[in-house]
Amino acid sequence: MGTSPPDPQLSGLYQELILDHYRRPRNKGTLDDATHSVSLNNPLCGDEIDLQLRVDGDVIKEARFIGRGCSISQAAASMMTQLLKDRSIPHALALAARMSAMMQGDEGAARDKALGELRALAGVSKFPIRIKCALLPWNALTDAFKGER
Ligand code: ZN
Repeated sequence: MGTSPPDPQLSGLYQELILDHYRRPRNKGTLDDATHSVSLNNPLCGDEIDLQLRVDGDVIKEARFIGRGCSISQAAASMMTQLLKDRSIPHALALAARMSAMMQGDEGAARDKALGELRALAGVSKFPIRIKCALLPWNALTDAFKGER
């Protein structure tokens, strides 16, 4: 493992939420009956994500991940899996686009309640080197459905 760059200074409340997800990740683990599985890494930071989904028809019934890396990448994965449960695939991909817009500094996206706790990561958009950390799990998600639509 390399040394991760220092965490950007985000506002206290957001920093706490991110650290809470980092220390107690939601939906961490693997699925025995996964229909989709994608592994991605972010060599800039040393982050790794292995995303597993169980999709039934057009709906994501369950999302889990294993991974390691910086607090931003792991918190983003934890927050994302919370948001994906029982979403349709088009809805999930729309959220991925919204998240990407937020990371490009779109203020409308940063206020969009649809992104739930992920809005805590909006400040990361000011730290270009860390944007890939926040988007890593979302890139895994879009990769999972690449070629299907
Ligand atoms: Zn990272």
